[in-house]
Amino acid sequence: MTMSQSRSRMASGTAKPQEPVQNATTAASPKRAPLSNIRRFSLRKFCPRRPDPPRPFKHVLLKHFSWSFPGVTTEYPVLCLGPSLSILIIDRCVKGFISPMEEKDNPRLYRVRHSMAHVLAQAVQTKYPTAKLGFGPPIEHGFYYDFDFSGTAFQETDLKEIEKIMRKIIGQGQEFKRLDCDHQAALDTVKKHRNEPYKIENINNLAGRGEKNFSFYTNGTFLDVCEGPHVENTRELQSAAFKLDRVAGAYWLGDEKRPMLTRIYALCFEKQPELDEFLKRRKMAEEFDHKKLGKELDLFEFEDLVGKGLPLWLPNGTVIRNEIQKFAEEMEFKYGYKRVATPNIAKQDLYLKSQHLPAYEESMFPPMIVKDEDGSEATRFFLKPMNCPHHHLIYASRMRSYRDLPLRLAEYGTCYRYEQSGELSGLIRVRCMSMNDAHIYLRLDQFEEEFRNLMKMYQEFYDTFKLSSYRFRLSVRGKENAHKFKGDAAMWDKGEALLAKVLNDIGVNYYVGEGEAAFYGPKVDIQFRNLMGREETVSTIQVDFLSPLNFDLKYTEAGGAEGVPVIIHRAPLSTHERFISYLIEYYGGAFPTWASPLQVNLIPVNQDCEAFCKKIAEELHQSFVRVEVDTSDNSFNKKIRNSTVRKNPMTLIVGNKEMEENRVTIRRYGIEKQETMTVPEFKAMLHEEITGRKMLREPMSALI
Ligand SMILES: [Zn+2]
Ligand SMILES: [Zn+2]
Repeated sequence: MTMSQSRSRMASGTAKPQEPVQNATTAASPKRAPLSNIRRFSLRKFCPRRPDPPRPFKHVLLKHFSWSFPGVTTEYPVLCLGPSLSILIIDRCVKGFISPMEEKDNPRLYRVRHSMAHVLAQAVQTKYPTAKLGFGPPIEHGFYYDFDFSGTAFQETDLKEIEKIMRKIIGQGQEFKRLDCDHQAALDTVKKHRNEPYKIENINNLAGRGEKNFSFYTNGTFLDVCEGPHVENTRELQSAAFKLDRVAGAYWLGDEKRPMLTRIYALCFEKQPELDEFLKRRKMAEEFDHKKLGKELDLFEFEDLVGKGLPLWLPNGTVIRNEIQKFAEEMEFKYGYKRVATPNIAKQDLYLKSQHLPAYEESMFPPMIVKDEDGSEATRFFLKPMNCPHHHLIYASRMRSYRDLPLRLAEYGTCYRYEQSGELSGLIRVRCMSMNDAHIYLRLDQFEEEFRNLMKMYQEFYDTFKLSSYRFRLSVRGKENAHKFKGDAAMWDKGEALLAKVLNDIGVNYYVGEGEAAFYGPKVDIQFRNLMGREETVSTIQVDFLSPLNFDLKYTEAGGAEGVPVIIHRAPLSTHERFISYLIEYYGGAFPTWASPLQVNLIPVNQDCEAFCKKIAEELHQSFVRVEVDTSDNSFNKKIRNSTVRKNPMTLIVGNKEMEENRVTIRRYGIEKQETMTVPEFKAMLHEEITGRKMLREPMSALI
């Protein structure tokens, strides 16, 4: 047993609770068959540190309250637990939102948060002497503690007073002291102290699992079963660097048959500026949440009649999609790709060949069963979860010579995946997605140059979008679980070495992810940092040695012998859904002119100027600019405000003076300074900005 395993088993008072793991997806979707091991593995891989899987709810749902962060949005059902209690928000499967903290993450901060959790419990018991203690571990951004308040009238408004008591305890300079003992002495100590039922149960549970050594920490009159470590004195804690944040319900031991405890979450950092920065970023993340902005800016919608996870793109959102797609298609043309188009469905046999069935079946929609024309046998069709198999068949449909390679087949392919309903989240996780997909079939001797070009293309894409907070992860097999990775070991070695060589040669910022490779080959993941600083994989470049064998893909070598190509799967712009959700939050909804739904909004200062505005608008429209004239009855100031609320990149103001001089005054979104220029000058500037896909200011999230 490793050190960390032993620690988490032993740690009791403030350690991670030993919860029975209930799989998130089985609870969310009872009509589906239990998940295969493969699906479980992939879920865990996606979200390895998710500590709180969702559980069935016994209470009546009043309404849905949405609490969201970019990349980790989720919906919490809000429950009313009785008139004496404030409304509690039940923790749901929050993808990564409540991540546990480990000591090795930051030993100093771990001790601070851990000690602060004790101080919270101490303060709560000072105000509510009958409150019973559950668990209270440090977590990402802070800590929490679970309490049983039964018999007392705890109110969320009491948090302020509890904070005050905590500050008083900190000021008293109480010392943390450790006490080690055996099972019986541990029980005696707890019984003698406050006879805490959850602590006693936990001690017995640990003893039942073979634990022999127990320890306590005390500070002042407070005592907790705890492995530590702690700071030495409460004076080391910063009174201004923590904040009690919110209250939630959590079942004891994660078991819905056990009492529901009240969990108090706190934010806690080493210094106050870090807390301030966190609160500022969180506010920004709430303001820029793509679901909120998607509604406000009329970008997309979800309708019950269509189904969960199936977005309807509204005209404004469709403009963004189309502009991105146009950009991608131009770039792919430039880099020598050929476009293909493939159906959204295929027969079962294709997915048996590609090994999506049964390995990936849980993520596919169930089959459509179509009777053959003679009425006898039935054909099973599946919605495609990926474009790869179709593209492989296009490759295989002709004889290929070494001269035909690399063959780059590109398609903005629409795929369907049966994501579990608990995993769906705005545009980030959907069931229907359009992917900026391409497959490159090449000889191994072409690999280095091709990969180098690919990296160049990625950087060109991301520079245009002014994306800067990303880095590359070279995902390799690693030392453990070698059996997971299929195919020839020599090919793997070669592939991994080539990827590393190019990454080193071009000098990009990357790190190695051991064990993160796909089962069929190494890959390079592009890790983006969202507004809350969390990294997520937005795109990958995958090297595939296995599919060419499954699909029997060949080419004729110069001497006439048969060669087997290597495949690179790549999607720099991810899916429209995921990428646009990221961009909405990164841009705070204010897209660069070239991608913006409305590019130019003309505001006549008075009615006399309307005809002139309409003339300019008509001319711009003829040159494919998305333009409007605000001829509403609103006041001039209201028109300006509306244009800002809509985040229009360019608002043109035309008064009598401008009209006489054939000029316009330009206000750009996010830039204070106004400019005035003649209409022909404006047109030339606009044309250059749009065709060059220029972005003349920093993304809004970078400015705050
Ligand atoms: Zn502790
Ligand atoms: Zn693919």
